[in-house]
Amino acid sequence: MTLKQHYDLIIIGAGAGGGTLAYALASTGKNILLLERGGYLPREKSNWNPDEIFLNQRYQTQEKWLDSNNQSFSPEAFYFVGGNTKVYGAALQRMRAEDFGELRHFDGISPAWPLGYDTFEPYYTRAESLFKLHGLRGEDPTEPPATNEYPFPPFEHEPRIQEVADQLQNLGLNPYHLTLALNRDEQHPENRPCIRCNTCDPYPCLVDAKCDAQVTCVDPALKQDNVTLLMNAKVTRLITNNEGKIIQAVEAEIDGETQQFSSDLVVLSCGAINSATLLLKSTNSHHPNGLANSSGLVGRNLMLHNHSALIAASHQPNETVFQKTLGINDFYFQGPKQDYPLGQIQLTGKTVWQRLKHMAEGEIPQVVLEYIAKHSVDWWITTEDLPQPENHVTLNSQGQIVVNYTPNNLKPHQELISTLEQYLKQLDFYLFWTKQMPVKVVWHQAGTCKFGNDPKDSVLDLNCQTHDVNNLYVVDSSFFPALGAVNPTLTIVANALRVADHLKDQWG
Ligand SMILES: Cc1cc2nc3c(=O)[nH]c(=O)nc-3n(C[C@H](O)[C@H](O)[C@H](O)COP(=O)(O)OP(=O)(O)OC[C@H]3O[C@@H](n4cnc5c(N)ncnc54)[C@H](O)[C@@H]3O)c2cc1C
Repeated sequence: MTLKQHYDLIIIGAGAGGGTLAYALASTGKNILLLERGGYLPREKSNWNPDEIFLNQRYQTQEKWLDSNNQSFSPEAFYFVGGNTKVYGAALQRMRAEDFGELRHFDGISPAWPLGYDTFEPYYTRAESLFKLHGLRGEDPTEPPATNEYPFPPFEHEPRIQEVADQLQNLGLNPYHLTLALNRDEQHPENRPCIRCNTCDPYPCLVDAKCDAQVTCVDPALKQDNVTLLMNAKVTRLITNNEGKIIQAVEAEIDGETQQFSSDLVVLSCGAINSATLLLKSTNSHHPNGLANSSGLVGRNLMLHNHSALIAASHQPNETVFQKTLGINDFYFQGPKQDYPLGQIQLTGKTVWQRLKHMAEGEIPQVVLEYIAKHSVDWWITTEDLPQPENHVTLNSQGQIVVNYTPNNLKPHQELISTLEQYLKQLDFYLFWTKQMPVKVVWHQAGTCKFGNDPKDSVLDLNCQTHDVNNLYVVDSSFFPALGAVNPTLTIVANALRVADHLKDQWG
């Protein structure tokens, strides 16, 4: 085994958290190594081929994980430079100010964060600028206070979606333009790589117009000589010094060989499930239950969001090409008949028959799927799931990832779906196909190393440094103490910018 060059900082995982951190610290001149288990997602025609995306799962990991019944499943996780953001829907939102406080939900309490919205506000502003957000401030009644306008105006609705938006508004709702991280500048047509196509969410972007973590953060960071990216480098273990207080080496498998790297600081950013399991794997005599796990909370409080697709068909064909432009947060904090939060409604990428086939439980003739896809407007419904210690990730004796997750807070989720259906029935929709996402849809995984003040009740301190190991940080979706019901990535990015400021202060 060879011990490679010593670095100032090693970042493990080049996704939303790790990529943003690398970007924010690149200008410091510090010697930074990014270790990423994947390579660059290939740019090829298959990026935009629905057969490849929905029927062949071409870009999804081939790994198999186990659920709480010991059943094997293929997680919808994507190991590339840019991480899961390579295929994300790019709908980025601030958590609501209230999400940072304690909120009573149907199934219990969503706990308060140890830091308030005010701390995150300036970082959200920077994150929105970095990820080129398009939107219109003030349209969404639940939007938290913000110091800046969005950097770009909203993506306009196409005619069918505008019609739906107008009709919902007439029924008293407040549909708003979804806030999107796409590189399209109407004022400067020469700078318009986004072509508003029908292969955006959840496809990789063939023209690199999606502001994902690779395009937005990693590639610009690599323009600095002091930043190095090592791909196909799967980190397998973190090794401490004899006292167990310092990470002395990071062990990775590269081309079938084990190599070690060392650095002053190590930042783990593999996504909530992989970061936690890497800590659990890295046991030693000082950390018998997993590294940085004196609280016993590493891997616990896993949250995934309650997600459902609602395919709503009318007799009118839906010719929309770029559909993901509308959101509804009227029931975010309470339902029409409920005094507890229901969650968020947004449009998703325009459904094609292949996506419906992927969703279907049994065999449905292709001609039927094609008819539905031609006539549907397609919604994505998200309800907060509450952090519960029983929902945890662990490893079995063969080192395989086990996801023990039982959904909670499902009643408000069903109520949100039926509330939307009631509204859509008052328009011209008559056919509704709902599919609740199973555990393999780990897109919004979070919470497995929550941050907090008390080392007994959190894994990370307020700067996302582990309480137990001095030079180890976790800067991905693991740190969330509660998830809210908005999409998580803007908060992950904002937090990475915040931790970067902290590290810069440390470096002086
Ligand atoms: C289809 C889809 C649609 C989505 N849509 C949205 C959306 O519209 N809005 C939104 O906010 N969020 C969306 N998300 C979620 C979003 O992508 C994630 O919340 C975000 O990427 C998480 O950031 P992260 O840094 O925690 O992890 P990731 O971005 O996944 O990064 C983790 C990185 O670590 C690497 N890695 C893992 N293990 C190791 C290891 N052992 N060694 C080295 N490297 C490792 C991975 O390859 C990856 O690059 C979507 C996700 C998916 C899959």
